[in-house]
Formats: sequence, structure tokens, C-alpha cells
Amino acid sequence: LVQGQGIHKRFGRLDVLKGIDFEVMPQEVACVIGPSGSGKSTLLRCINHLEKIDAGRLFVDGQLIGYRQRGEKLYELREREIAGQRRDIGMVFQRFNLFPHMTALENVMEAPVQVRRENRDSVRQRSRELLDRVGLADKEKAYPAQLSGGQQQRVAIARALAMQPKLMLFDEPTSALDPELVGDVLGVMRQLAQDGMTMIVVTHEMQFAREVADKVLFMDGGVVVEEGTPEQVVGNPSHERTRSFLARVL
Ligand code: ATP
Ligand code: MG
Repeated sequence: LVQGQGIHKRFGRLDVLKGIDFEVMPQEVACVIGPSGSGKSTLLRCINHLEKIDAGRLFVDGQLIGYRQRGEKLYELREREIAGQRRDIGMVFQRFNLFPHMTALENVMEAPVQVRRENRDSVRQRSRELLDRVGLADKEKAYPAQLSGGQQQRVAIARALAMQPKLMLFDEPTSALDPELVGDVLGVMRQLAQDGMTMIVVTHEMQFAREVADKVLFMDGGVVVEEGTPEQVVGNPSHERTRSFLARVL
């Protein structure tokens, strides 16, 4: 479903991604781990074209992200076409950026109603089901400020799901949470994985990676150093850099 080929990304003179190749099959969960500054967030942001790549190609569901190819040349898509591609890709960040002046339910309903011009009543019903799915059926009238960080993050997940994405990207969704709130959010993500959602998850939660991931990518210095099943990469890493990273986070 997701394919990256030779992805390069530079910020000025800083080479952040130095030729990344990866593949995530439909319904697979890929966890991306690695030290701070290794390019994990940048890679996720490239997948929905929040960052433009300098070389390489990214495909989601067979569609070239951000560009149209004519012969050998690539032409960047128009903003509207890029927005169309992004609609199929849900993203959840470390900081739950809910709209503060809207209730939980309104947050979940916003994009389908405003962006996709869907019927309000059917969106409301679907949004209630989504809040139920993330364990917040009783919080639909609450404003973000009245919710815990973990609850806000679960609303953010429901909001992303409301657009019925083909792919969900998570960038350290639990690392801003108090430890006792992490489990609920990981539980929702685990359920989502079981329901067959294709997911790419940047995380430091090695237990989650071990139990939920189909594959783990260890990034360091802008390259994928090691890739494989969780048993291989987390359980029995073959590279020294992976081993020393794991020794620090486990
Ligand atoms: P962390 O675990 O701390 O979140 P990360 O692996 O997600 O790290 P990135 O955020 O992808 O790392 O950053 C990789 C490198 O790119 C860092 O050196 C960072 O300073 C740099 N970088 C990221 N975004 C930008 C930007 N918009 N402009 C310039 N440099 C950037
Ligand atoms: Mg990051």
C-alpha cells in the first residue's frame, strides 16, 4: 500500500533522509524507531507531502504522492490535488491539536462536513460510533480543555478516522502523555491494527512494537539501518547501532 523508493530530503545543507526504501503492505503495521534527529518525523511528513522530497518516489495505494509523472519528468501537483491525496491519509501527532473551541463530537465531524461536504446527520452518527470505538462515547459534549491528554489523543484518532483513510500515520502519539494515560491510547491503536488498518507508527514504545508491528524499521542518521520483524529488529538486532539504541530505550 505504501512504497518509498530512494527518498532523499535536505533542509538547506542538512541531509536528513539519505535514500530511504521501504514498503508497507495493506493491513500491515510498520513501527519506525530510532534516535532523536534520525529523520523519523520527516519521513512521515514526506508521506503526506507536508515536506517535499528532493529525490525518490513515494506511492500510496499506487498513486504517486505530490507529483505527476510525464516521461522522465515530475511535475508537482496542484494544492487541490495534494489535498485530495492527503484526505486518504490520517495523521496523529505527538501534540493533540484539536480545535479548542469545538466539542469532541464537533472535532470529529469537522473534516467530513467542511471538507467533504457530507450530510451532517450521517456524519454525526458515524462520529458518535467513532467516539464509542475509542472509548469516549460519554465525552462527546466535552471540550478539549475538559479532557485528559489521553482522551484528547483518542479524539484526535477518531477525528483522523472520520475521513475514512486508507492509511494512518502516527508520530509518537503517546510520548507527550502521562504514563498512566499511555495504555488507553495504545489500546485504541492496537484495536485499529486488529481491525485491519494500515499503519505507520513512530514510537518509543517497544512493547507495542513487539506485539503489534508486522515490521520494524530502525532509522539512524537518515537511513534505515535495519528492517525486519519485531523479533529480528527488537529481539535480536544484527547491527551494533540498533543494539546500542535499544539498550538506551528498553
Ligand atoms: P525526534 O525523535 O526527536 O522526534 P526525528 O527522528 O523525528 O527526531 P526529525 O524531526 O525528522 O527527527 O528531524 C531530523 C533532522 O532534520 C533534525 O536534525 C532536525 O533538526 C532537522 N529538521 C527537521 N525539520 C526541519 C525543518 N523544517 N527545517 C530544518 N531542519 C529540520
Ligand atoms: Mg520526531
